[in-house]
Amino acid sequence: MTSVLKADRYVESPRGSAIDLSDNTNLWGSPPSAAALLASSEAGALSRYPSAYSDELKAAIASVNGVDPSMIVVGCGSDDVIDSILRATAEPGDVLAQLSPTFSMVRSFAACSRLEVRDIPRDSSNVIAEIRETNPAIVYLCSPNNPTGDLIAAEMIQQIVDDATGVVIVDEAYIDFGGTSALGLLRGRSNLLITRTFSKAYGLAGLRVGYAVGDPALIERVEAARGPYKVTMTAERVVMQVLQNDRSWVADKVTKAITNRRRFSEALIDLGLRPIQSEANFVLVPVENSALMSDELRSRGISVRSFCGLQGIGDALRITVGPWETMALCIAALEEIVS
Ligand code: PMP
Repeated sequence: MTSVLKADRYVESPRGSAIDLSDNTNLWGSPPSAAALLASSEAGALSRYPSAYSDELKAAIASVNGVDPSMIVVGCGSDDVIDSILRATAEPGDVLAQLSPTFSMVRSFAACSRLEVRDIPRDSSNVIAEIRETNPAIVYLCSPNNPTGDLIAAEMIQQIVDDATGVVIVDEAYIDFGGTSALGLLRGRSNLLITRTFSKAYGLAGLRVGYAVGDPALIERVEAARGPYKVTMTAERVVMQVLQNDRSWVADKVTKAITNRRRFSEALIDLGLRPIQSEANFVLVPVENSALMSDELRSRGISVRSFCGLQGIGDALRITVGPWETMALCIAALEEIVS
């Protein structure tokens, strides 16, 4: 399938439900250092610009990942980083190949850059050949994948990177919750970019900070396309504090999300549903009529993300996993609806 070369305004999912399980953020909240730092910040400091390319933040992120700071670019969310990669590495009319269904924003960014999107079914028996046939400037892979929650096998990622003549993006927005990072593939490969975010496991979606790791020359091009002054001073400071002080808080919430994901999936199976096995902090459940079902949930004060006609899956609901009390309310509401 080829996308229309037209960029539309993003349509935000409706908000305002008492329980919001729609956006895969950290439902336990934000790490303690974030609140402490924001409370102690002086408004006067806001009169100054942040550093143009967030050098201190890049150094902190590099140190946590065991790479050189020249291998990091940060941005206003990983959305911004992915968008910058597309602008830096492809020309209008070039092809972006992706394994579908996957993260829907990539299609929007591709449209903004006038790229042609080629969707290759995730369950295709010959992914490598199908990608190669599209002659892509960019291959976008997401593992764990949004919205399915499953992984792309590490060997498959390596084969795709080694086969590619263009750039391969591996989006690891949910890597804290499952799977093996592709970071190990970076050695000796200059066409791979791995994107990450502080919006999910780190509980900082409102700050908008994401990053990519890759070969310094490629990272430099992405940073130039991104432009200066994209990460605010507050965001830079908070993320640095959280990396320094709160990684055990994050690890604790990740462990809880993984436990609750299993428990929630089992409860869905008990209701007669067939959730896809997830390695992320959400679960995708195929249903007969997702619009109707999400309306029913909304009328009970619960928001989930509804998908209509996903390739190879059909209608489905994507439900973020959070504290068990919240998941129990969701199960109770689904039980009422299903029966
Ligand atoms: N990649 C994936 C797979 C996502 O699900 C999201 C957020 N929904 C993002 C990237 C973007 O996250 P952010 O811009 O908040 O870093």
